[in-house]
Amino acid sequence: MTAHHQTFHVAVVGGGLVGKSAALALAQAGLRVALVAQPAAPRPADLPFDARIYALSASSQALLERLRIWQALDHDRLAPVYDMRVFGDALAELHFSAFQSAVPQLAWIAESSLIEQALDAALRFQPQVSWLDTRAQGLDVKPDAACLALANGQVLEADLVVGADGAHSWVRAQIGAHVTRRDYRQTGVVANFKAEKPHGETAYQWFVEGEIVALLPLPDSHVSLVWSAQADHARELLALAPAQLEAAVEQVTHGRLGELECVGPAHGFPLARQSVDRLIAPRVALVGDAAHLIHPLAGQGMNLGLRDVAALADVMAKKEPFRDLGDLVLLRRYERARREDIGALTLATDGLQRMFSVPGTLARSVRNAGMAFVGAQPFVKRWLVSAALG
Ligand SMILES: Cc1cc2nc3c(=O)[nH]c(=O)nc-3n(C[C@H](O)[C@H](O)[C@H](O)COP(=O)(O)OP(=O)(O)OC[C@H]3O[C@@H](n4cnc5c(N)ncnc54)[C@H](O)[C@@H]3O)c2cc1C
Repeated sequence: MTAHHQTFHVAVVGGGLVGKSAALALAQAGLRVALVAQPAAPRPADLPFDARIYALSASSQALLERLRIWQALDHDRLAPVYDMRVFGDALAELHFSAFQSAVPQLAWIAESSLIEQALDAALRFQPQVSWLDTRAQGLDVKPDAACLALANGQVLEADLVVGADGAHSWVRAQIGAHVTRRDYRQTGVVANFKAEKPHGETAYQWFVEGEIVALLPLPDSHVSLVWSAQADHARELLALAPAQLEAAVEQVTHGRLGELECVGPAHGFPLARQSVDRLIAPRVALVGDAAHLIHPLAGQGMNLGLRDVAALADVMAKKEPFRDLGDLVLLRRYERARREDIGALTLATDGLQRMFSVPGTLARSVRNAGMAFVGAQPFVKRWLVSAALG
């Protein structure tokens, strides 16, 4: 071994929230981990809230608690969701309530940077993790180890490489996984507002002519917008001056929260669905958006990725002493543990997106009648809530 050739149990490629959580979870299981990740851009200090906001389910909270990240968050910056109101594109309305579902809350709304800062601090204090501020650019899987060549000239040897490198995953390309992609030709327009009326810890969602508009509660009467708009319309929305965007959002949400005041610039994220034919290869496992990409209408992509992390850490923690971490038998356990959850959410989000994209009066009547039916079935609603909680 030379100074430029280090060995690890696991090399995690990618430093989004999923990659950082994976590095921490595997290190806390006693493994020596290399995290290959460039630091995220800091959040502009003059904005009250981060542009990237996530609705985190109970399963994500449980993982972050296990990693002792949840306890380190500034809880004044988290907003619980006690109710969710979904409006169809006719008269239908669905109401989900934490109280009726007998759960403490339906979700927590959290800024990406809040979780990221806590993860960064934990990773820097974790002696089992070596954080390498660079990119991976060469992968050679040998029978006894995977060799990862880095852009800074270093070469790592690891028993297992975890691909947490997002929707355009380089690791996934190295293992030759086949990706089925559906481009929604939509952009998720996100922006934060101060609302005139209290949101009452309620998440709102409107289905409007093939587009979906969500307002998620943030602390102190702020809300986060996710407007899944047709690509052309999104370009128009992103070009609007703040006062025009405020008016557009007030109009599409029927003034539900009164006047809205922009508290930061809007950003756009192209939306697509991706399914991958395999999550594993010898000495390689994919997690997060590298493994699946879904429409954000249910706010579940990050939750799915954090459940990948929990499952992978669980499989590795329970491994028989004679197995090596890159053993396909172990990796198949991880893949089997994740297939159903990923498949179900991909199907559900894609199905809902398609259902509300069909134009015409008949289609509108059918989907709104469907919503009304679901709304009248407490058992179905409870099942939907438990599925969303993970
Ligand atoms: C508009 C919108 C709203 C959303 N809302 C929600 C929500 O409310 N709740 C929810 O659960 N999910 C939500 N999601 C989904 C969520 O954002 C994603 O699922 C999540 O961010 C994926 O995280 P990740 O860490 O897997 O990937 P990423 O965040 O994409 O991170 C991948 C990282 O890998 C790095 N990388 C790439 N290649 C290399 C390489 N070769 N070497 C080293 N590093 C590399 C990249 O630079 C990046 O930092 C939303 C998505 C959108 C678009």
